[in-house]
Amino acid sequence: MDSTQPKPPHPVVYDYLRTNKLFPSVWCEGCSIGIIFAALMRAIGRLNIPKDDIVMVSGIGCSSRAPIYADFCAMHTTHGRALTFATGIKLAKPHLHPIVMTGDGDCLAIGGNHFIHAARRNIDMTVIMVNNNIYGMTGGQYSPTTPQNKLSATSPYGSVEHPFDPCELAKGCGASFVARGTSYAATELDKLIGRALQKRGFAFVEVVSHCHTLYGRFNKMPSAVEMLKWERDHAVNVVQAAKLSPEEMKNKFVTGVLQDRDIPEYTEVYEQVIERAKKRYAENQSAATGQGD
Ligand code: SF4
Ligand code: MG
Repeated sequence: MDSTQPKPPHPVVYDYLRTNKLFPSVWCEGCSIGIIFAALMRAIGRLNIPKDDIVMVSGIGCSSRAPIYADFCAMHTTHGRALTFATGIKLAKPHLHPIVMTGDGDCLAIGGNHFIHAARRNIDMTVIMVNNNIYGMTGGQYSPTTPQNKLSATSPYGSVEHPFDPCELAKGCGASFVARGTSYAATELDKLIGRALQKRGFAFVEVVSHCHTLYGRFNKMPSAVEMLKWERDHAVNVVQAAKLSPEEMKNKFVTGVLQDRDIPEYTEVYEQVIERAKKRYAENQSAATGQGD
């Protein structure tokens, strides 16, 4: 960015941007992805994670454009496959920290199978899933998180499918860390992302967010402000939620840390298997040599 341009308000975010020739971004004005991206950069900055230790990985979709704008090593891969690339990176270079930015369609439909197995393996990576309840980039088709009866380009009379609860899915699959935030509560969000970044194992953060230009327009909330207010009015912190009845929680969703546990991490366990295999191989070699004498 040249010196005549004003600096953005968050110096940390500015430090992590690839500023040359890539802005303005592809995101629509008012889209929540920018808010979420900035929260991630603030969390990284606060933890002072060296740039060279981070690899940002994404698949396809509006949120999957994020790694293009961040000044880390990056892989912008194929639809739904971000977790497979991130798994390969982590196995090949266990000291690196893969951060996957993904959307509800990319993560839970095309990449659904990869998601459940990455969580089940508890491989060390941070996954930020932007849940805007729709496929944004490809034109507004319904996704695995579109609520029943909501309209989309492919459900003009209302979606008939039951949506996934992504956090319950991640918990059920065995993820170490599971949290949910909103793009409305941006400062809370960077704290949640910070905790996810510090967790050793599969750390998943679902961010309830908005695509006002497609989901909002289809469902009578065409402005970003209206959709942010919806997030504000329907989110209940996990501590408060525990005190409320099912009736009081109707049409609300729970935010905060939903699972945090310490279980063996995949690449560490894999390293132990390699050591055992090496030892067995050496023993077999020595036995074979002894027989030959
Ligand atoms: Fe954001 Fe929706 Fe625009 Fe994509 S289409 S950039 S999700 S508002
Ligand atoms: Mg989406």
